[in-house]
Amino acid sequence: MIRYSLACVGEHEFEAWFSNSEAYDKQRKKRLVECPVCGSTDVRKQIMAPSVRSSDKAVPADVAAAKMAGEIRKHIADTHDYVGDKFADEARAMYYGETVHRPVWGEVTPETAQELVEEGVPAMPLPKPFAPDPPKRKNRAN
Ligand SMILES: [Zn+2]
Repeated sequence: MIRYSLACVGEHEFEAWFSNSEAYDKQRKKRLVECPVCGSTDVRKQIMAPSVRSSDKAVPADVAAAKMAGEIRKHIADTHDYVGDKFADEARAMYYGETVHRPVWGEVTPETAQELVEEGVPAMPLPKPFAPDPPKRKNRAN
């Protein structure tokens, strides 16, 4: 069985199970795949993005915060160094005085985030609307 995230022409999103991708194609052509909201059979597969940021699981920001999200996102991108998956190391090094404090952002697993909280390392989860797109990794020559 394969699960597809689908969307109809009316942008209603829904999920449906098929025995395989051919079954989906056949059923779709025969107009057997129907939007549960409006009954449209004009459906397509949604593009799926891999979930890479731990903040994907964060509670969605409320509407007011969502309005600010763009500004916050820009602020973070402009003023914080992106450290990627080194975030936990960087945050700990700063907390334990091993390195100079500087604003950084990056990615951690939910488990590591919990560890940081328990250690008292100041770190803030970044709900998806606030997380800038990670910059392309530069090859820094040393
Ligand atoms: Zn629909």
